[in-house]
Amino acid sequence: MEVNNPAIERGSVRGDINLHFSFGAPTLICSVEMPLKFFNTLSRSVQEFVPRDPAGKQVRMYCCGPTVYDVAHIGNFRTFVFADLVRRYFEFKGYAVEHVMNITDVEDKIIKGVRNSKMPLRDFTGKYEGLFFEDFQALGCLRPHHTPRATEFIAEIIALIEKLIARGIAYKAADGSVYFSIEKYQGAGHCYGQLLKLNFEEMRRGERVSNDEYEKESIADFALWKARVADDGDVFWASPWGEGRPGWHIECSAMSMKLLGPSFDVHMGGEDLVFPHHEDEIAQSEGAAAQKQGEHFVNYWLHGAHLLVEGKKMSKSLGNFYTARDLFAKNFSGREIRYLLLTAHYRESFNFTLDGLHGARTALSRIDECLTKLREVAGTATAAADSALLQKFSEALDDDLNISQAWGEVFEWVRETNRLLAGNQLSASQAAAALASWDKINSVLGVGTTSQDADIPAEITGLLEQRQAARKAKDFKRSDAIRDELKAKGWVIEDTPKGPRLKRIS
Ligand SMILES: [Zn+2]
Repeated sequence: MEVNNPAIERGSVRGDINLHFSFGAPTLICSVEMPLKFFNTLSRSVQEFVPRDPAGKQVRMYCCGPTVYDVAHIGNFRTFVFADLVRRYFEFKGYAVEHVMNITDVEDKIIKGVRNSKMPLRDFTGKYEGLFFEDFQALGCLRPHHTPRATEFIAEIIALIEKLIARGIAYKAADGSVYFSIEKYQGAGHCYGQLLKLNFEEMRRGERVSNDEYEKESIADFALWKARVADDGDVFWASPWGEGRPGWHIECSAMSMKLLGPSFDVHMGGEDLVFPHHEDEIAQSEGAAAQKQGEHFVNYWLHGAHLLVEGKKMSKSLGNFYTARDLFAKNFSGREIRYLLLTAHYRESFNFTLDGLHGARTALSRIDECLTKLREVAGTATAAADSALLQKFSEALDDDLNISQAWGEVFEWVRETNRLLAGNQLSASQAAAALASWDKINSVLGVGTTSQDADIPAEITGLLEQRQAARKAKDFKRSDAIRDELKAKGWVIEDTPKGPRLKRIS
């Protein structure tokens, strides 16, 4: 076996070769089946995914969740929809997934919000956490199995800091804060800068100036515990170092290791979190030496790229700052937003536009129309899913989640199905097989409806029923008035041999 074989560096090894990657991933044993591959920020390469579970059944994943001080914007949701896609795809592949997404409910911006709103901490964060999950659900994201709040893990956070102090890697400063020493960490044989190559010389040059402002020994050191200051108000906890609150980075180390164990499979987040947040998570978790000899905190780090809106970085002053609810107010649905966010590859920066949302509506209505016709033909027939379609879809996603390829397969299938439907060439059981395939695909994409009326608001179906009653009573004036009202609300009625059908105006 050649070590410098480019195929091995890309991690796309086939055949029965056993490999040890230098970052300590488990031995890779490739099977005949197409392997699932991801770009791992840790190795800076596309690698085959091998779960830690020796039985190969379970996957443990963590995604950094929202900081609940305001309504989340669609840039935030790009990361959560991406994490949801990864979780759903693992499940599609047959893995039992344990998915954790934390809620950061203590942090500088939150404390400022608590001060300004004069609300107790839990009321303030609870309000935004509630709004977050409403939007999260509207965008079709499956609720993670655990959504721990940082403030409910203070004991675990303190225990982790104590471990770092005991190992000589963390120290208490004069003001009562506790810092992580990168120098001591490296001195203990660890590497800081696993996700990102850092220029420490550059960082040190600014050190003397900055050290006048901080209590910490070195500019690169970061806070694990922040001593209480007057501005914190009632937001503080007792600790062995005095009253204070945890730093942001330590929260994720403590919660992920408590819920998923000291080593787990996948850690996700937006690319803006690579440094310092994720680098610090590795340092804290591995610095505490919680892992077994030779094992890492996390085997695969996956990062989603930025979102541009209308070609620019989102900003309130440019008028391109959207929350999901801003878009609902413009009459776009959660599935349209989700579809648009899912059209781009996760590692590409993506330009999100209102035009793109109109395009999403058209694309989804093409799928919806095809499914509606399939349901009419299938009637009560049932059949197993078409494995050829599922295989093509799966091959695309196995390739580092090549979503454009996956959508390409879906729309090719829609085109072909429409052609067969138009020629009355599908039997009831073939239509049922097509529907079963879609259900499988949609278990990953999460954009479709399994029942015809699931996406039509109750008010609209109510109006349709009233129109039917008016027609039955031969009150055509009333029936026309309801049709106009539906049109004004963005819906048209198509009369089909099987009765009227509602269709959204795109
Ligand atoms: Zn985090």
